Amino acid sequence: MQELPITHPDILTIKLSGAMSGGFYDAAKHSITISPQCVSPNFMPLLLVHEFTHICVDNEIQKRKLPHLAKERIVSRICSEILEFDDHNPVGDKSLDKFLSKANLSSDFLGTLNSIADYLNINQTQAQMHTSRTKQTPRHC
Ligand SMILES: [Zn+2]
Repeated sequence: MQELPITHPDILTIKLSGAMSGGFYDAAKHSITISPQCVSPNFMPLLLVHEFTHICVDNEIQKRKLPHLAKERIVSRICSEILEFDDHNPVGDKSLDKFLSKANLSSDFLGTLNSIADYLNINQTQAQMHTSRTKQTPRHC
């Protein structure tokens, strides 16, 4: 298996917050915030890995302007297919799973992201032809 061409920060800040926000990350500040009361103790390390994976792949996601639901599914599939744990993330575009196989992720991660970007661009063009309603921006998980 090839290593995923991802980058990680030299320093990572982890905050345990009292706010009821679950978990989130800030790629620019290299920080992860987790609300311990929102997750079971056993799940906290897994949520940290989920958020850290976001930070590691964020640069490539941003380059391709991939939407939130794609980003969440890519991270969830890295967790399940490569790191082999279920991140219990209900958010994400499952129609992308056809691209996000273990083989694709491990042999050509950047090519997989390009395929998703192409697929979403085609779908978006079709969606715009059929409807003019604006999409709501989903909350970050
Ligand atoms: Zn997430």
